Amino acid sequence: MGFLEAGEPYTWDESREDGIMEWVSTHGIDQFLAMWEKVKAIRCDDLKWGDELEYSILSANGDDGTVRCKLRGAEILAKLREQELALQAEDEAEGEAGMKGGTKSEGCSWVPEYGAWMVEGTPAHPYTGTASALLSVERNMRTRRARLLAVLEPDEICPTIPCFPLIGVGEFTEPALPAGGPVTKSLFVPDDCINPHPRFAALTGNIRKRRGANVDIRMPRFRDTHTPAPSRPVGCAQPSTVEEANAMDEVYMDAMAFGMGCCCLQVTFQAQDVDESRHLYDQLAVLAPMMLALTASTPAARGTLLDTDSRWGIISQSVDDRTPTERRSAGTERSARLPAVNGTDGSHTASDGTPPKSAPPKVPSSSAVADGPSGPSGLYHDAMWQSGRGAQHKSRYDSISLYICNELAKNKNPQCSEQYNDVPAPMCEKSYARMVAAGIDPMLARHIAHLFSRDPLVIFRGRVQELSDADSTEHFENLQSTNWQTVRWKPPPASSTFLGGTADIGWRVEFRSMEISMTDFENAAFTVFIVLVSRIILYFNLNLYLPLSKVDENMRRAQTRDALHTQKMWFSQNLMPPCGCETPQKKMPHEKVATLFGAGEVAPSEVTVLEILTGKGTYRGLCPMIMAYLDVIGSDSVTLRTVTVYLDFIVARAAGQLVTPATWMRNYIRSHPDYKFDSVVSSRIATDLMMKCHRIGMGLDKPRELYGDFPIQTVSAKDAVTARLLSSLPLGRSTSHVERTMD
Ligand code: ADP
Ligand code: MG
Ligand code: MG
Ligand code: MG
Ligand code: MG
Repeated sequence: MGFLEAGEPYTWDESREDGIMEWVSTHGIDQFLAMWEKVKAIRCDDLKWGDELEYSILSANGDDGTVRCKLRGAEILAKLREQELALQAEDEAEGEAGMKGGTKSEGCSWVPEYGAWMVEGTPAHPYTGTASALLSVERNMRTRRARLLAVLEPDEICPTIPCFPLIGVGEFTEPALPAGGPVTKSLFVPDDCINPHPRFAALTGNIRKRRGANVDIRMPRFRDTHTPAPSRPVGCAQPSTVEEANAMDEVYMDAMAFGMGCCCLQVTFQAQDVDESRHLYDQLAVLAPMMLALTASTPAARGTLLDTDSRWGIISQSVDDRTPTERRSAGTERSARLPAVNGTDGSHTASDGTPPKSAPPKVPSSSAVADGPSGPSGLYHDAMWQSGRGAQHKSRYDSISLYICNELAKNKNPQCSEQYNDVPAPMCEKSYARMVAAGIDPMLARHIAHLFSRDPLVIFRGRVQELSDADSTEHFENLQSTNWQTVRWKPPPASSTFLGGTADIGWRVEFRSMEISMTDFENAAFTVFIVLVSRIILYFNLNLYLPLSKVDENMRRAQTRDALHTQKMWFSQNLMPPCGCETPQKKMPHEKVATLFGAGEVAPSEVTVLEILTGKGTYRGLCPMIMAYLDVIGSDSVTLRTVTVYLDFIVARAAGQLVTPATWMRNYIRSHPDYKFDSVVSSRIATDLMMKCHRIGMGLDKPRELYGDFPIQTVSAKDAVTARLLSSLPLGRSTSHVERTMD
């Protein structure tokens, strides 16, 4: 979760009333402009990339053996960091001693996460652009799991699943704590399940205060044969007791912990320059729904089976800080990207993906802005510290509402940008005007002004006027890091050498929609897949643009139960739509791509995820393009074999030969002897499921319907020393003497 300065936050009222929020927002733009001047022209020729995995630590300690969230994240984090230093030294020593497989250390890096039972792990150093770096991913993920296992107590487990199904059910923490507290005021979760760093409680409390009530998370309940009829219908008032909540048609949750307590897989890529980063951002945003559907692993929450398969709707609603006016003006209480609650989704997007009735946003010309606010009422929004409050159509955690590639604006067809940017995207007009006046192009100014249509949520004492706009990016990052969208455009951080720091970091894009998977084989497969997709987008100059209303519709469909097989996705099979943009560093002419891969329908059409992967008609599919790319760059045979296994696995899942983790977990729950066909996931069921998932993660259990014959290796605490893990791995290292690069 971004940067973590220690300190004491201002109270919500202080930051609102004393002009502090306004200062942060205004100076956030100044900082962006100062930073932009320093980094707009930088180039980083080497590809760098890396993943993030979020872990839950559970324990089965009570008299009843029930699995609970173990609130020991901070202690475990400290142990992990200490162990890391010691193991790195040991790894290097073993490597030098010429042990079998011993190579330079591949360590891990550990940071806190929202839940007091969570930690986040990344590789210690980003992966490089050599094709054989693809082999490091699974190995490093397995090292991370081993190192986490090594610091756990005997009764602790770390299944890598997005959502522990007992969050908010009875005493679900260890130590046991009563629900509620001044921060969350939750009916279900205790304040102390939040990470003790002050940032996290402040975020939680301020979201609730800004909204004016507890967050109102409602997910569709899976109706089984004995599920009691609800006495409180869809759309009923927010409940004030657990009993009222249980009588609702929807599954209700009321705290940030339900969403930010979910674990995901994120992948960040460095682009060669700012233009390439903007291009990749747009292209990858289109694929976010498909990757959510492919990784779906969340069939249950708050002890109940859901009629959806992924965490997205939970997390999106869990940080929805919009005021009642912002929601009402947008014409929707519920987000359009959420799956329908038993047929009444109350959304503003028709199911065919046609855009909302209100007009799409237009980029005002700079002269219009200079004359003062000119947008149609409701479309332009000033953050809360400003006078007017307009519509906000989405939660801060949601799909993107704007494409940002400047080529789109420069396209010969002037309608191009508006045709694709067809959903409302409120922005802070003052910020927009200042950026345009400072020479930022309207596409980018609109993106930043859209991020700045939100209020800063957490502001620390002594870090407001005290910061220099020329040297700090903290106020900019305040807004940037609390806009949690499907993709994130990441300018070089303050720690970058380009901004006077010491880290070698340039322009990056983060892909954020995927769920975490039970095994590192799967996490690596999806990570490697998405990095290769980013390569073919650039190399073959692919053009995946869809109107954002259709991407939003895909996002809604992606969360439905068994989406891979019940839903189709809008997709542009034509790699050269008449209205699109050129890859900034164009590698291959469109005509050549068409000859290689064919070109499908010109208009976007509805296809299955399998068809997106493997082709349909004259459209060849992403997987064959990846294989062609690896061939073109001359990747070595070990890398090629490993990637082939990953792609085969993903295709087998899309084809239904293997089930998604969500389907497997739903089946596990519904066939458990303790299940009463009433949608309730009892403590007994959840405990058995978590024990099973933990064993699956360690490679000790391997359900055939999930993995078939695919190679899931065992991993245990003794593999914490990388050199030992390396020597035991069937996945070898590159055999090639000439390293092929994917830049
Ligand atoms: P976040 O701000 O999203 O929490 P993290 O620092 O946790 O970001 O993780 C970012 C990921 O990006 C890590 O896997 C890291 O290895 C990787 N990474 C680090 N430096 C670079 C770089 N220069 N370019 C691309 N990826 C990088
Ligand atoms: Mg995280
Ligand atoms: Mg992170
Ligand atoms: Mg993060
Ligand atoms: Mg991240």
